[in-house]
Amino acid sequence: MSINLDVLIVGGGVQGLWLLNDLTGLGYSVLLLTKDPLGQGQTLHSQLRIQGGHSFSDEPLVRRFREATNEHWRSFIERYPEVRAFGDSRLLFLYRSNERAIEQEETWRNKYQLNFQQYQGNLLNNLPEATSDSGIVLESDETWLDGQRLIAALISTTEVRQQICHGEVTEIILNNGSVQKVRAMVNGNDLSFKPKCLVLAAGDGNKPLLDNTIDGNKESLFARFNNFDNKNYTVLVVKGNIPPLTGFFQEFGGLQIFSRMVDENEIVWLVPYEGIESRLQNEVEKVTRFLSQLRPSRSQQDLLWGFYTGRKVEVTQEIQPTGRGRKIAVEAVETCGVGNLFVALPSWLTLAPVVSRRIVDQITESIAPTTQMFNLQDHGLSSYNEIALERWRTVDCSSWKQFREDNQLEEVY
Ligand SMILES: Cc1cc2nc3c(=O)[nH]c(=O)nc-3n(C[C@H](O)[C@H](O)[C@H](O)COP(=O)(O)OP(=O)(O)OC[C@H]3O[C@@H](n4cnc5c(N)ncnc54)[C@H](O)[C@@H]3O)c2cc1C
Repeated sequence: MSINLDVLIVGGGVQGLWLLNDLTGLGYSVLLLTKDPLGQGQTLHSQLRIQGGHSFSDEPLVRRFREATNEHWRSFIERYPEVRAFGDSRLLFLYRSNERAIEQEETWRNKYQLNFQQYQGNLLNNLPEATSDSGIVLESDETWLDGQRLIAALISTTEVRQQICHGEVTEIILNNGSVQKVRAMVNGNDLSFKPKCLVLAAGDGNKPLLDNTIDGNKESLFARFNNFDNKNYTVLVVKGNIPPLTGFFQEFGGLQIFSRMVDENEIVWLVPYEGIESRLQNEVEKVTRFLSQLRPSRSQQDLLWGFYTGRKVEVTQEIQPTGRGRKIAVEAVETCGVGNLFVALPSWLTLAPVVSRRIVDQITESIAPTTQMFNLQDHGLSSYNEIALERWRTVDCSSWKQFREDNQLEEVY
């Protein structure tokens, strides 16, 4: 016997949960299945930066980032102010050349309507000497989220909480160009669901699920997923007496620092880099060089270091980045030619609300809501609301000396 419902969502990250809220609000009978604690995937591995779109050169993409930030996230944060991690985060770009900085500022302002300006003040009394002499800092406000509070806000209503179940989707069965059946292990039982629409919001779990879809013509249906870029993304975690700085410091080899406040007395820097562990040495070198300029007298022994690796998934439009910005899929939603299947193309957490809106638009066009909410108890299922920990909070930071030994790093000072 299959369980009937309007929409089955796979994945309890920011994307699946945002969509669950939107669909529940419209009266659809929805169930979200997730195999790990909520947020456990990329969502709570990320720095949770809500970005305006300045990292991308694609105009439609910049517009979508702006729309997500101005419209959806702003009203969400007004409703749940506690999700802000860092009240007055500023995003800083440091340029050696004044011409380059001015040109960039004009592009952001005039072409993309992104609000950047030259930073005039004394940056926490901490900016490296060299930069104040011969560089320009551009700044903009950005919002950082507290991951656990974000998930808590997304499951704050009873209706939503009662439509989440702990379970792993194992197989999607297609028939005549539409999803016929979905199999899942739920509470140790092999169950079968018959949703009118299926949404995959499983992050890096989307690809194995699509690979495991039963259909004769798989190659052509899922060709687009050849551009699925599934890479390791490591975040170096630095704790200690460090300033709350967030920015891109180009003269330090494009060093990116994202700072998070643990409490009033503790700041953590999250320094991401894409790639392999053998490059870690370079990243550490950049950070230590930067730190030595911020606080020349500081001792490295004051710092704690650690790192974690997450899976960053992007569906790229073109494999190679063009210009300075990167390209990711503008469409955001893929149907793979299957009428009632929607795949959220993972890219940025910032875009989750606009991706959700796109999926909702397509669902409302094709089916009307059933009048009754999906009731877990009717099917002997129980609701699942466990929230994962933000990854950086769980990193076991050892001393610098230990960190160096563990990772066989050479002395960089
Ligand atoms: C290190 C790192 C830093 C990042 N920084 C940022 C940032 O600062 N700002 C930003 O906007 N974006 C950032 N991103 C990207 C962002 O995190 C992702 O785009 C976003 O979190 C994707 O959310 P999601 O809900 O689609 O996927 P996920 O959060 O990965 O959730 C997918 C869920 O699906 C579940 N699942 C998988 N397979 C199955 C299955 N078969 N059955 C049931 N459940 C399943 C998993 O348990 C998981 O919880 C970053 C990513 C990484 C890795």
